[in-house]
Amino acid sequence: AHEVHLARRPQGFPTHDDFALVERELPAPAAGEVEVANRYFSVDPYMRGRMNDVPSYVPPFQLDRAMDGRSVGEVTAVGPDVTDLAVGDLVLGNLAWRDHGISKAKHLQKVPDVEGVDAKAYLGVLGAPGLTAWVGLLDHAAFRSGDAVFVSGAAGAVGSLVGQIAKQKGASRVIGSAGSAEKVSWLTSELGYDVAFNYKDAPVREQLAKAAPDGIDVYFDNVGADHLEAAVAVANDYARVAACGAIAHYNDTDGDATPGPDNLFQIVKKRLRIQGFIVSDSLDRFPAFLEEVTPWVADGRVRFAETVTDGIDHAVDAFLGLLRGENTGKALVKIS
Ligand code: NDP
Repeated sequence: AHEVHLARRPQGFPTHDDFALVERELPAPAAGEVEVANRYFSVDPYMRGRMNDVPSYVPPFQLDRAMDGRSVGEVTAVGPDVTDLAVGDLVLGNLAWRDHGISKAKHLQKVPDVEGVDAKAYLGVLGAPGLTAWVGLLDHAAFRSGDAVFVSGAAGAVGSLVGQIAKQKGASRVIGSAGSAEKVSWLTSELGYDVAFNYKDAPVREQLAKAAPDGIDVYFDNVGADHLEAAVAVANDYARVAACGAIAHYNDTDGDATPGPDNLFQIVKKRLRIQGFIVSDSLDRFPAFLEEVTPWVADGRVRFAETVTDGIDHAVDAFLGLLRGENTGKALVKIS
């Protein structure tokens, strides 16, 4: 089996030298364990935070050990005492960054068998990114029909869903920002965003002011920095912000930090509410999320994209590409 280890803690933007592809012999699964051959695994921005040795809501990755994250694969062997899984079952687990792995059976879930829905959708549109979009918009930003919504990172796994869910639920206007002309045109031509702009073309503050002449009621923040500042600047009184991520800051070092918003007093004047959240606190919402969103995905009302990188030996490329914006929709690694 092959697995990707964290070889050293990245300083700033990660490089290939921070990782090592390691081969190892897998033991036979012990009591309560199963062996899984991965088909796909997820690479995600939050993994960058886990590469730093700092306290957070998830423990840091350990050096010279395989990293982990969400995966989908096929059971290839079961240990003694495993009764609820069998060889050939498709399972969701936490075996990212490897081609084969051993997991406790109780940490795996069988992939739901829904017509028209591929197993890898449970790593993206119907998995943690989808749930993040849904709870962030509905629970944390308290979205209401008629709201004007701005989404940053709008062509990514989470952002591409936020705008579509808002549209399904009666948003008056959905505005997205993303980092390329192709992404911007995908948002408006395929996903139903009313307006979108490339944040690299001109200052976000200028572009958002033009895109939102009547202000915004909700901001779904995936980026922080200049995007949060611009959203605060155009926000209507009592607007709500779901603070989901701040990817503009993830590669900051002590000596080299991306500037943050300079207009925080507007939060007071406009009586804004900014709510940070972590999706793993909302796992009890997963059934309600699946019940609402699965039919939208199955019948195509909600669209999604996946950017698939082939091979465990290119997993690091997939992760670095995600930080550079090379993915549209969910970034996945495929194991052939
Ligand atoms: P994405 O699929 O959106 O991938 C990351 C994207 O971020 C890239 O494609 C890139 O797109 C964009 N990006 C990278 N650097 C910058 C920058 N400096 N400024 C603006 N955009 C940038 O990832 P996810 O959908 O998985 O995650 C989106 C956000 O949500 C992240 O901040 C993540 O940490 C957060 N998140 C939070 C969760 C929670 O529980 N709170 C759960 C899941 C995700 P582009 O080409 O547009 O630049």
